[in-house]
Amino acid sequence: MADIIKLLPDSVANQIAAGEVVKRPASVIKELVENSVDAGATRIDIFIKDGGRTLIQVVDNGKGMSPIDARMAFERHATSKITVAQDLYSLHTMGFRGEALPSICAISQVELRTRPSSGQMGTRLLINGSKVESQTPDICDAGTNIMVRNLFYNVPARRKFMGSDSVETGHILREFERLALVNNNLHLSIDTGTRHIELRPGNFKQRINDLFRNSLKMQLIPVDVETSLVKIHGFVSRPEFARRRNALQYLMANGRNMYHPKFHKAILTAFDSLIAKDTQPCYFLKIEVAPDTIDVNIHPTKHEIKFENEQQIWTILHTAVRSSLGKNAAVPSIDFESDVLPVDPAVDNVVPDPPVTHVPRDYNPFRSSPTPPKNWEALYDSFMGRMPRKDESFQDMGDMPSVSVERFVEPEQPADAPLPEMDGEGIESPICLQHNGGYIVTGSRDGLIIIDQHRAHVRILFERYMKRMRNEEQVSQGIMFPDSINLSERQLSVLDEIGEDLHRMGFVIEHDADDAALIRICAHPAMLHNADVSDVVLGILDSVSDKSVNFGSNGVGSESMKRRMALVMARGGAIQRGRRLTADEMEHIVGELFALSDPAIAPDGNPVYVVFSQSRLDALFR
Ligand code: ADP
Ligand code: MG
Repeated sequence: MADIIKLLPDSVANQIAAGEVVKRPASVIKELVENSVDAGATRIDIFIKDGGRTLIQVVDNGKGMSPIDARMAFERHATSKITVAQDLYSLHTMGFRGEALPSICAISQVELRTRPSSGQMGTRLLINGSKVESQTPDICDAGTNIMVRNLFYNVPARRKFMGSDSVETGHILREFERLALVNNNLHLSIDTGTRHIELRPGNFKQRINDLFRNSLKMQLIPVDVETSLVKIHGFVSRPEFARRRNALQYLMANGRNMYHPKFHKAILTAFDSLIAKDTQPCYFLKIEVAPDTIDVNIHPTKHEIKFENEQQIWTILHTAVRSSLGKNAAVPSIDFESDVLPVDPAVDNVVPDPPVTHVPRDYNPFRSSPTPPKNWEALYDSFMGRMPRKDESFQDMGDMPSVSVERFVEPEQPADAPLPEMDGEGIESPICLQHNGGYIVTGSRDGLIIIDQHRAHVRILFERYMKRMRNEEQVSQGIMFPDSINLSERQLSVLDEIGEDLHRMGFVIEHDADDAALIRICAHPAMLHNADVSDVVLGILDSVSDKSVNFGSNGVGSESMKRRMALVMARGGAIQRGRRLTADEMEHIVGELFALSDPAIAPDGNPVYVVFSQSRLDALFR
């Protein structure tokens, strides 16, 4: 039999490699910008046309290339960054595989102009689907200017998989954000044809602020830790700002964005019991380790990184986030369930709050287990002796189904019972206890009151927002860099229905010209200043089709719209189940709640609290 194995021609090999490195225009941006970073650029400007489909241009002021290097750069495995295998273990550069440029030029038409600052003359190189068309001397700026035209022009199958221009632009902007976050010290700009973003060099916090100012106001707390193994610097959102959708989560290691599910989990578990189960915190964290303790080479896009000391870093990361939350008073200083590391006040001059204990007065220090007595549990257990106990739903820290709460409603005390007396001899200053991180237990002369802390706060905030909306002329506030939001079919049809109402409230929503499913919120009611605007809009859209939310009127009108909006905002802003409350906070909530004219029912119709009457209590002890 004749030999049939042949070596692939380079152009074919490059096209195949391109499939791994270049998924879409955004990947080209990533590779080109990383090359500019490696070349020591301090300024990088990006221009794209038609979502990167017809043109991607990256201009830098880095060290440039000699004519021969420029030519070499497009050869496979040509790299200036490693020479011997050993170099792989001490990499400080983004690239090293020498794959990006040959891959890109295999599937596009490339024009490169580059000049080292030492040279008088630069070089201009034209490459068409891996084939060098010409190389000529060129008068150009020092640095590198590379244009990638007609991506996938010779790979029709790949072209078909590209999204519409605005979808690709969205991917590019997201990649730009990631690159901008790791490279906060660089001057970066991008021009997409419809939007221009210019970012000045600054520290990490300034960069985060420049990129996400609209949705992150006041929400971040710092995380800083340095050990011999790892240095972690960055920010996490306060637990009360955890989001149901679109949480901004960025994890970087040694100057790269990375995808690391385990470290993600380390951060999430630090928030355990502080946020509702169906929500996620935002985080922006940079991890620095010695380059020879990581392996970046496990995937061509280098998004995945293997850490030699993964387990130790996991613990340090988890603890660092947890202790930052503690320092910022979001976690109780003494937590019986999990040990919070002592906080070192010298770190950044933040003196931790004095420890607050929630131990009742009759706490017996001689008991062997260091947990407060479980009187409350015993109490409702005895109630539950009469009613089947639904343990799981009671323990549920997430969105608790209303059924389980209704089980606690006394038959003769419906949830909309008259307001219990809170004044006078009833109780002077109500003593509040928090049960199971979700309920405030307090008493009045009517009996024992158990308040759902989340619903109580939703109820309070709802009232506040409604009041503001009724009193204020709705002032609109523009958004400088609106995010693109992808809507589902259902959300789109709801938007059709209520678009006008939203407009009346002060929202300006633009539909994308090419992609019907894509919208941008260009302005929002000014009163929403602290909220995540996209989240509020999505929440309103979802609530309209959510049959469980009933405002008493079926039609959508602006009053009903206001209520929806107020509810979505209140839900987003309210303290969640699972969040520990201080005695002051509980008193505050109880005080505000019972100052309302109808505190018993949450705006979505669920009971806010239940009352066990005095006679019922007495009967139990007979
Ligand atoms: P890698 O980055 O893995 O080395 P690339 O294919 O991305 O591989 O780039 C090949 C080489 O081309 C780089 O090693 C570098 O020497 C050179 N190069 C690429 N882009 C630039 C740039 N913007 N400025 C200077 N040199 C560059
Ligand atoms: Mg590279």
